[in-house]
Amino acid sequence: MPARKKIIAANWKMNMTVADTETFLATFRRAVEGVSGVEIVIAPPFTSLPRLSELLGSSQQIRLGAQNFYHEKPGAFTGEVSALMLRELFVRYVIIGHSERRQIFGETDALINKKVLAACATELLPILCVGETLAEREAGKEKDVLRTQLEGALRSVPEEDVLDAVIAYEPVWAIGTGVNATPEQAQDAHAHVRLVLAELYTEAVAKKIRIQYGGSVKPENAASLMSQPDIDGALVGGASLEARSFAQIVRAALRP
Ligand code: PEP
Repeated sequence: MPARKKIIAANWKMNMTVADTETFLATFRRAVEGVSGVEIVIAPPFTSLPRLSELLGSSQQIRLGAQNFYHEKPGAFTGEVSALMLRELFVRYVIIGHSERRQIFGETDALINKKVLAACATELLPILCVGETLAEREAGKEKDVLRTQLEGALRSVPEEDVLDAVIAYEPVWAIGTGVNATPEQAQDAHAHVRLVLAELYTEAVAKKIRIQYGGSVKPENAASLMSQPDIDGALVGGASLEARSFAQIVRAALRP
């Protein structure tokens, strides 16, 4: 079976103006010149998507991602952006189920499932985030939480669509805290995610799905995390805002 291609995604959250985006891309492109064999995704705020789309053109090296969308067809949903609107800008990936959306905006597994289904129907590839809180880990419930979130988010999602999705394991206690999961903790969780995927689909399908780690990934810890057998890349928040540090993380994905 061919190796899973590593995928490194930047989640800029509510950061970066259009001008910041232009500056970032100029520096980042120089820093990753000649890098191949790893998929790079940048998910800027909505306001930067048109300009980034224009600048990236038909780049095969760097793909455009969105941080969110609303699953309904165009209509009376003030403040929301549809999947079709993202496709018009050549957005390829969309982050779904990020813990900030779950915690701050009250997104449930049922809503996340609707978003996954709508993304797949529009040929947007989901980056589906799952992960436990500190309280859940301390109570020894992290594996149950991951199972519940995966089962909920992937309900009725057919095999051909899940194969193109990316799962991001993001322990909530590691996001933006500077405290990353150890490579062993992350590997253990990723192996569990793959086991649940094998139960929901088949072992062959589970082996093909890429599972990223997210939570305080930095140039210093990226290589050791990604050297683990079930860690197929990283979803990066804070360290993706600086072009050189994000480029270092991309390069870390190339190390054996
Ligand atoms: C994230 O928001 O997805 C994330 C992983 O953030 P950070 O890298 O800042 O922990």
